[in-house]
Parts: sequence; C-alpha cells; structure tokens
Amino acid sequence: MKYGKLVDSYRKLSSTNKKLEKTDIVSKLLKSASDEDLEVLVLLSRGRIFPEWDVTELGVADSIMIKTLAKTSGVPESEIKSISRKKGDLGDAAEEILEKKRQTTLHKKSLSLSAVYSNLRKIPSIGGSGSVEKRMALISELLSSATPEEGKYITRTVLQTLRLGVGEGTIRDAIAKAYGLEASLVERAHNIRNDFGEIVKIARKAGETGLKKLSLEVGRPLKPMLAQKTEGIEKAVEDMGGLAAWEIKYDGMRVQIHKKGSDIRVFTRRLDDVTKQFYDIVEISSKSIVAKDCILEGEAVGVDPKTGKPLPFQQLSRRIKRKYDIEELSKEIPVTVNLFDILYLDGKSLLDSPFEERRKLLVKSVKPNGAKFALAEQVISGDKKKITRFYDHALSMGHEGLMAKNLSAKYTPGSRVKHMYKLKPEMETLDLVVIGAIWGEGRRANWLGSFILGARDVDTSEFVEVGKVATGLSDENLKNLTKILKPLITKDNISTLDVKPKLVVEVGYEEIQKSPTYRSGFALRFPRVKQIRDDKGPEDADSIERLARLYEMQRK
Ligand code: AMP
Repeated sequence: MKYGKLVDSYRKLSSTNKKLEKTDIVSKLLKSASDEDLEVLVLLSRGRIFPEWDVTELGVADSIMIKTLAKTSGVPESEIKSISRKKGDLGDAAEEILEKKRQTTLHKKSLSLSAVYSNLRKIPSIGGSGSVEKRMALISELLSSATPEEGKYITRTVLQTLRLGVGEGTIRDAIAKAYGLEASLVERAHNIRNDFGEIVKIARKAGETGLKKLSLEVGRPLKPMLAQKTEGIEKAVEDMGGLAAWEIKYDGMRVQIHKKGSDIRVFTRRLDDVTKQFYDIVEISSKSIVAKDCILEGEAVGVDPKTGKPLPFQQLSRRIKRKYDIEELSKEIPVTVNLFDILYLDGKSLLDSPFEERRKLLVKSVKPNGAKFALAEQVISGDKKKITRFYDHALSMGHEGLMAKNLSAKYTPGSRVKHMYKLKPEMETLDLVVIGAIWGEGRRANWLGSFILGARDVDTSEFVEVGKVATGLSDENLKNLTKILKPLITKDNISTLDVKPKLVVEVGYEEIQKSPTYRSGFALRFPRVKQIRDDKGPEDADSIERLARLYEMQRK
C-alpha cells in the first residue's frame, strides 16, 4: 500500500470529531489492506511504531527533527523554528517547508507504507557514535520522497504528536466492524494478548472462532484487573454487602510472575518485562513455587535492609529503571513479594474461576518463604468491628490500607471492576497553580489536556513545578479550563505552553516524592484534580514548605 493512502485516512480522521465516523474510516482502511500491511496499519493509524507490550520509544526530540528538516529542505533551522512557532506545530511547519522545496524538485518516487514503517522502526535500535546522524538520515530519506502532506504526518509520527483521536477503543471497534465481530470479543482478546496487530490478523483469518480460541499464554503478560476506590470503613463494608475477603494493601509494585517449568519471567502492571532487574524475584520464585506452569500476581515491596521496614515506592522504582549494577542495587533495596492471585495453573486459565477458588489454588501452588515470598494476609469477614481491627493492624504495620474482594468474582483483565475495592486513608489535598499546559490527544485534541502545576516559592514569589496532571477532569471541566487558560498563554514551546500563574486547582495525590528533576525538589505521584478553586488566587496556593512538611509526615 502507498503511504499516501494512510495519509488520506489521517486527513479524514482529523476532519471529524465523531467517534463512529473515525471507527468507520479505520475499519475501511483495514478492509482494504493486504495481509502484509494489516499489522502496520493498526499501529500507524494510532501513531504507534511498536505494539502495546513493547516499551521501545523513538526518542527523537523536536530539536533533532528541526535539524533533519533543515538538512532535507535547505531551509535554515531558525526559519523552521519561526514557522513552527507561528503555526504551533512542527508537523504543519514541515508541510509548509516541503511545499516550498517541492517547487524546486523535479522527480519524486512515491512512498510506500512499508518503507515508512521500516525506517521508523530502525530508529531506536541505532546506537553508538554517529547515531544521531544515522537516525536523521533515516527520517530524511522518507521526507525527501514525501509529499508535503505526507511530510507533515511523518513529522508528527516521529514526534509522537499525531493526535487523531484514534485510541484503543477506536481500533477495537474498527476491527470488530471490519470483520463483523462483537466489540467485546475483540476487547477480551486484547486484554489477554495486548497486541492489536496480532488480533487483527486473527480476526481477518479466523474470525470469531479464532479470537475465542485465544487464551492466556505463560510468558505473555495480561492487563491487570483494577480496583475501585472506596472511602471509609463503613462505606467499604456496605459496598461489599456481606462476607468478603479483606487483604492487606501492600505499597509497592504490582508484579505478574510467569512460570513455565524452570523459565520464570517478571512483568510490571504496565506489562514491561523486568525479569533482569528483578532476578532475585526469579530466584525466590523458583524455590517457592511448587506448581509447574502458572501465572501469579503479587505486590513486590522494597524493604530497608537495616530496619526491615517497607521503603517508599520511589526507592523501589529505581530498580525498575536500572540497567547496570543490578545486583548491587538489589542489596540496597531488597524486595519481598506478597502474592494475592493466580490466573493460570498447569494448562488451565483461571480467569473464570471465583476468587475464593483462585485463592485456594494459590495457596496450593506456593510454599511461602517467610516474609520474602508470602501470601497476602487475608481475613474473610463481613463484621465491621473485625475488619476495622484488621485495617488498624495494616496501617500500624506501615502498609497502605486494605483491599476488599468479592469471593465469587471472576478475574476480568484490564477493567476497573465493581467487586474489588481499595481502602486507604486520604492524603491532604494541595492547592496548586497551573503554570503550563499541553494540548489534549484524540477526542480531546481541541482542548488543553494536561496541566503543569506549580507550588509557591515564598522567597522568590515564583511558582515552581511539582508535577503534571491529566486525570480527574470531565470533558466539561476541560472545556472550561481551556477557555480560562487560553488567554493566559504566554509562550508556545511547541510541546508545552507556558501559562501565566493565575488559576488554582485543588489536587489529590498518592504520595509526595523527592524529585531531582523538578526545581521545587518535589514531585507528586498520581496527581488528580479534585476541583477548580476559582475562589482562590495564586497567593493562596500552597508553598514548597508545606510540601516539605507533608513529605516528612508521610515518612513517619
Ligand atoms: P491502586 O494502585 O491505588 O489503584 O491500588 C491497587 C493496587 O494495589 C494494585 O494494582 C496492586 O498493585 C496493589 N495491591 C497491594 N496489595 C494488594 C492485594 N492484596 N490485592 C490486590 N492488589 C494489591
């Protein structure tokens, strides 16, 4: 297929906000593709180069893209920057620049979909000396044969700013529509395989029967089931409506342990493979899991080797990113694993088995090893007093709170379910000032979608960054915020906008962390906007000192 055909669809996608129309455009595109192009189309129509389970990033910065455009077109970098600033988007700038160049070039080959994909795919694997030039050459090669419009979309794809409103939901519905399938069936398949490229091929070749046959596979991580939040023990007991399993909520990192004979792999909740970084989990699993093949879920908690007490998540997260001296770091931050579920056992998926049954099988499948490899502490009860005692016990041990689980519920990967609740004390909220913003994506492309938050620096009366928030806001709120903030924009840095510090929002969060990157020295983990505080001005916003006090409090 010609790349131009995909670009035709990009153009159509950007001219409508209607989800059904977008689904229709993608679905037609899939139908018209050859077997070879199908997988690539599913990826590129969402602006992805790698499947969902692959965390590889292109990692091309705006500055490199500007250099590449300059090299390809002969237009000076300063002019490209100025066009881009004027247009607010480097993709649009690329189109204008290539349009100018077109008038001077005579001959053009047309660009194929596979050529674009193959060059982009190569980018992250290029390392060593001269790698920047080699990466630029791959992009430049594409731009030289591209029409101006194609150049615009190549630029946006490289910079990961395609913003066409094609999310997982659109791809799911488009596949369903193209091959006459139930969307829920495609969704189920995606939740257990996490790869639309694979799913679209099966959907085309083997339809409903093919997708139904898809099952869990040891070694292939699946999306975890997520819990709802509940506030206060009273409400939690009421939500569960009788006898339920109550477990300690450990504060660490969710891990999926996949065991196939002697081969053991560890994945995070985002399905990243961290087997190498957590070789100690592999070692202890191989000693303690008695089942032959299984998929277990648990929470890995970092512990202080001196005191044996749980360490904040931020410490443990250093281990996720570490690529060298892994063993050394594992001595500094050893982990314990607290197992709470089993999803697969010796050839059989347990997703449809009730939780009560799964817990029994989990107990049978492991031989706990002290605190290092333990089963999550559990109480089965419907008695408020007993549950309150257990909650107090969990908090006094330094854990986050409790999880409440319906005994007869199935495991539904990837969904936030109404039969599993998390209960933990709420942190005090912060009033912060919006100091920057980023345009939204997909359906929200016309509104500002995420906001950079600042706390007050009492000494300088400036506002310094403590985090970025994108969650907690309804469409209505986003529209409203965009209206308020647009006139306050002071500078367009292409990927972010500077905003005059005026608007105050109340922000909830999971934890305050130390941050070497933010000038404030602090960052918020999982911030969410609770409400817009138009009753407050920037002078009422919380100071860095308050963040520092709260940070100290949460460590006690
Ligand atoms: P949250 O991350 O606040 O949405 O809370 C849910 C998370 O708690 C899960 O994703 C797990 O990582 C973690 N967790 C800790 N202990 C348990 C447990 N006993 N059962 C289920 N999840 C747990």
